[in-house]
Amino acid sequence: MQATTQLIHSIPVDPLTGAISVPIYQTSTFVQEAPGVNKGYDYARTGNPTRSVLEDLAAQLEGGSTGIAFSSGLAAIDAVVKLLESGDEIIAVDDIYGGAFRLFEQVYRKFGITVHYVDASNAENVFHAITPKTKLIWIETPTNPTLKITDIEAVASIAKAHRCLLCVDNTFASPALQKPLSLGADLVIHSGTKYLGGHSDLVAGLVIAKDPQLGQRIKFLQNACGAILGPFDSWLLIRGIETLHLRVRQHSASAQTIAEFLDRHPAVDRVYYPGLPHHPNHAIAKKQARGFGGIISFTLKENTEDAATAFVVSTGLFKLAESLGGIKSLVSHPAAMTHKSIPAERRRAAGVADSLVRLSVGLEEAEDLIADLEQALDKTSRPHTGSDNPGESILTNTAQSLSVAN
Ligand SMILES: *Cc1c(COP(=O)(O)O)cnc(C)c1O
Repeated sequence: MQATTQLIHSIPVDPLTGAISVPIYQTSTFVQEAPGVNKGYDYARTGNPTRSVLEDLAAQLEGGSTGIAFSSGLAAIDAVVKLLESGDEIIAVDDIYGGAFRLFEQVYRKFGITVHYVDASNAENVFHAITPKTKLIWIETPTNPTLKITDIEAVASIAKAHRCLLCVDNTFASPALQKPLSLGADLVIHSGTKYLGGHSDLVAGLVIAKDPQLGQRIKFLQNACGAILGPFDSWLLIRGIETLHLRVRQHSASAQTIAEFLDRHPAVDRVYYPGLPHHPNHAIAKKQARGFGGIISFTLKENTEDAATAFVVSTGLFKLAESLGGIKSLVSHPAAMTHKSIPAERRRAAGVADSLVRLSVGLEEAEDLIADLEQALDKTSRPHTGSDNPGESILTNTAQSLSVAN
């Protein structure tokens, strides 16, 4: 059987009633026959049957031994960092997700955990950053938002040689396209908020461990610290995963068409999409993933924050919002939104230009999305008309509201 067929049928039919949809066990505790004698559950922080189905599904999706479902992607990242001790070091990708950067720098640094940021699209940079204190290598591939690709197998062999853990944030590719554990990673984390949920209606995180003992250590940390996913959101995430492969296939196909359109457009400077043959790591992306995903970034010929702002307030189908991976297309301006907590010089050095715009291509028809981008690019490249332009106050207000990063 194909993996997709297996996946759909691995979600169990309820043995009690025959319900084809997983029941939502909305309960905090479980009645025991005698102290310690129970049906596998005692208290819902430690385990909940709806969450268990999701966790087993996640483990199967990524080819791991253990899945653990968290209340957000950041809670999942946090649990992995808690494997470390004071004095340990992490090597992480330089254009790491802004929230992970904030967690590393503003929370864990004061506990004595230091992070070195490198361009991991060249695996040698990872090798050179290794010290005897390195305990964890953290990569995203593709990265957010410049879609850099890291050779997972190459970095995994460096991690093995130096006995440190390799964790891959697989949020962007999703397991429909890429399975890091099969390429040598020890851990995968997800923001389930994105492609796995797929409908922009929940916040969730997952950790998947290859080794059962490592999985148990994360489970211990979750129970000890408490950031579990509730039963209803677990159910929603299961429902999202049921259509993951179908959705991601379409997201990728439309993104390819749109990336090619942008690549030809005169107002666009550079397009970042691993499916374009001129992408520096196109060959590795092709080797380690089954598709190139639904995220595209690009810069404008007029490389200013203002030009990007004018663009992101002009799209109609592409809604201006943080996040990605849902059925509705989204547009964002990383320098002013997701990456605002990264200092400007460091952000630019990592390739996040002032005019960089990120698209999350949804499930609308590609031709409609192209028409939307075309009219917005047209407005962006037209010369400004001065202070009597009625659009200007709207732009100013929007720019102000964008200044609060999540
Ligand atoms: C959104 C995101 C996260 C954080 O997940 P939350 O569910 O928002 O906490 C982590 N990594 C990547 C790549 C993301 O896009």
